[in-house]
Amino acid sequence: MLKSKKAVVTGSTSGIGLAIARQLARNGADVVINGFGDATEIERTRAAIESEFGVRAHYLHADLSKGEDTRQFIEEAVKALGGIDILVNNAGIQHTALIEDFPIDRWDAIIALNLSAVFHGTAAALPHMKKQRWGRIINIASAHGQVASELKSAYVAAKHGVMGLTKVTALETAGQGITCNAICPGWVRTALVERQIEALAAKNGTDIETAARELLAEKQPSLEFVTPDQLGQAAVFLSSDAASQMTGAHITMDGGWTAR
Ligand code: NAD
Repeated sequence: MLKSKKAVVTGSTSGIGLAIARQLARNGADVVINGFGDATEIERTRAAIESEFGVRAHYLHADLSKGEDTRQFIEEAVKALGGIDILVNNAGIQHTALIEDFPIDRWDAIIALNLSAVFHGTAAALPHMKKQRWGRIINIASAHGQVASELKSAYVAAKHGVMGLTKVTALETAGQGITCNAICPGWVRTALVERQIEALAAKNGTDIETAARELLAEKQPSLEFVTPDQLGQAAVFLSSDAASQMTGAHITMDGGWTAR
């Protein structure tokens, strides 16, 4: 479905980003993956995408919390792939604390990666997409792009910002063969959430699986985690021709979190 398309997925050495990159590759797209981690493990991940799906997969290291580095990363990805058709702005981090206790450096880091990197990546990709009159920008927001939780001021502010930026990007590209949409996951059991489950277990003196059930029960009526692969398939849909008139919108996959 996406044969010969060129896709860049930020923060894709693990979790949701990796699943999205793999689903895009499964559907025929060449991909650039990015993110931190052990070099041997990253190379294994990259090579597995090539061998399993018969596409080209490149890894580019970049710290996307720095604006100039993000723009340069997109240009390097364009060079590696020979263009850019799909940009998935996925990289993100979390920190929890009351507003008055929130460390300033954590606030700055979350806004830089979860929000500003979406701006810089989009700004660098759009000239290429406008020239070819085709593009898909997919921003991984969150249920926290729609509703709030206590202790997550920076994350909720950034994700609400991403929702707004998604709409502006859609308006500025409408009628030019480019769409921009967000995906809003609820709880997905990745490293980002595992740390929150561990913190809950420590706070309540329970085992990890009890804490995982409590975490779900608080927010997610389905009481089941969303899987990274399900989000990958949503990204494939947004990249397809079937979604060409969907722009400035979002797909919510949160087990009912934001329905109540
Ligand atoms: P994760 O921790 O498994 O993956 C994050 C990825 O981003 C990793 O590849 C990491 O190396 C990379 N990364 C971190 N800092 C970076 C930086 N400065 N520059 C470049 N890459 C960097 O997390 P995840 O759960 O897969 O989260 C992916 C996205 O999904 C995030 O935007 C997150 O906010 C969002 N999200 C996650 C959940 C969830 O429940 N896990 C829910 C809603 C939204």
